[in-house]
Amino acid sequence: MRRRWLFGDQLGPAFLDVPDQPVLMIESHDVLRRRPFHRQKAHLVLSAMRHRAAELGDQVTYLITDSYREGLAQVDEPLSVCQPTSWAALHFVDRLAAERDLERLPARGYATPRADFTTWADARGGKRLLMEDFYRDSRRRLDVMMEGAEPLTGRWNYDAENRERPPRTATLSLPEPWWPVEDEIDAEVRDDLDRLEREGVHFVGEDGPRTFAASRAESLAALADFITHRLPTFGRYEDATLREDRWMAHSLLSAPLNLGLLDPMEEVDAAVEAYRAGDAPIASVEGFVRQVIGWRDYIWHLYWYLGEDYRDRNELEAVRDLPEWFVELDPSGTDAACLSWALTSVRESGWAHHIPRLMILGNYALQQGWNPQQLTDWFHRSFVDGYDWVMVPNVVGMSQHADGGVLATKPYAGGGNYINTMTDLCGTCVYDPKLRRGEKACPFTAGYWLFLNRHRERFAQNFRMGQMVRGLDRLSDLDELVAENPDLA
Ligand code: FAD
Ligand code: SF4
Repeated sequence: MRRRWLFGDQLGPAFLDVPDQPVLMIESHDVLRRRPFHRQKAHLVLSAMRHRAAELGDQVTYLITDSYREGLAQVDEPLSVCQPTSWAALHFVDRLAAERDLERLPARGYATPRADFTTWADARGGKRLLMEDFYRDSRRRLDVMMEGAEPLTGRWNYDAENRERPPRTATLSLPEPWWPVEDEIDAEVRDDLDRLEREGVHFVGEDGPRTFAASRAESLAALADFITHRLPTFGRYEDATLREDRWMAHSLLSAPLNLGLLDPMEEVDAAVEAYRAGDAPIASVEGFVRQVIGWRDYIWHLYWYLGEDYRDRNELEAVRDLPEWFVELDPSGTDAACLSWALTSVRESGWAHHIPRLMILGNYALQQGWNPQQLTDWFHRSFVDGYDWVMVPNVVGMSQHADGGVLATKPYAGGGNYINTMTDLCGTCVYDPKLRRGEKACPFTAGYWLFLNRHRERFAQNFRMGQMVRGLDRLSDLDELVAENPDLA
């Protein structure tokens, strides 16, 4: 049987054909030298790879090298590999296959095979590829929460129940999420990363006890804990943010899922089982299933379907560089309480939930006209769950509207009022979310109007944006606002 070459995000049992298959793993350190990753992300990936190697024992040839090529040169036997998760790695594997005996297999770890997505998208002429349509098609095809051809309970969508404002309490009062206990492998990884730092490798973010699952056993424990303690509350406050409750009811499963340690369908099956047992309400379960086989798979498939050039799209011509404090995850670089809070979350844990990513960090970058390619790279390096396939569509498309509306029909731009409604962060801020001018002007409120004004002509053509653009005409002080902010004019 061919030796299976596993990339660092192919760590679960599904990436082997039989449990005792011989394996090759290469821990290449060049990548850490090229770009400054979050220290906890580097730790998580190395820890997960080494935990997998420890499980595999004699089955694995585990090489620590500078580059993949250096590692591959040490192995002179036929190999097989599952499709990697970035265009760059895919091209690398294709080049290798022309040079040596390497069997290339389809991707694993996603609910919908690539061919099924292509059939679905081509049937629409490659246009109007709406997530909602893909999600319903997936529910039918995968037979998830269906009764014949109809959705269980008769409804596809519980979004309306899943958009509640934050409660008036400081936290959701849920039990602490499942946390891993570090072991000797983590200690070894920490020593190695310390050594790399002494040799001049630059990381961002704080080191800290590992927060995310790094082995199959840990991932299953984290999944079980989520299903019991957090899933029942998952949907309701999905769009809200609380200062004292970083994790809220989120699953914290994106990291093990993207490492290949969990399969999306086993997450879905566990959630549906909780609904059938009467342990979680339908709105929460549907909301979670929608994220996993809907949004996650949709993003994965668009990464490939939209082609390699998609990453370079910059329809809004956003060219400003990311400031140093943002790149270095330094919350003291801003007085905006919401932005400083979100950066602190990333600095301390390499994670923030969806709304801080989209409506605080991404929204700010969009309003400031920061370059979407630099921002994609920043998200990729700074988040524990960041990989090329998931960052490119989420940042270029969803967050920065740099594709001109392929992925999201309107930009996710919001002013201080939105943040004040959906978070409890404005209370302690030096700025006032209602003000767009003056000493206490909220940078999000001013930024929102300046963003709309910059792109007034383009957005006037967008039927979903018309009302927002017409709002500009009601601002009596627009000229002054523009004059006072020449960089954003
Ligand atoms: P939950 O809230 O518990 O959601 C359940 C699962 O749904 C997640 O674990 C994830 O696997 C999946 N999911 C939901 N939405 C998406 C989505 N848009 N794309 C992919 N998966 C999704 N997710 C990543 O996995 N990696 C990233 O690098 C990443 N970067 C993002 C960048 C931006 C600008 C935005 C707006 C979103 C990004 N997301 C990313 C999506 C989402 O924010 C995270 O998946 C989620 O916050 C992870 O936390 P969780 O596991 O607790 O998620
Ligand atoms: Fe953020 Fe503005 Fe609210 Fe301050 S007032 S927390 S800057 S939205």
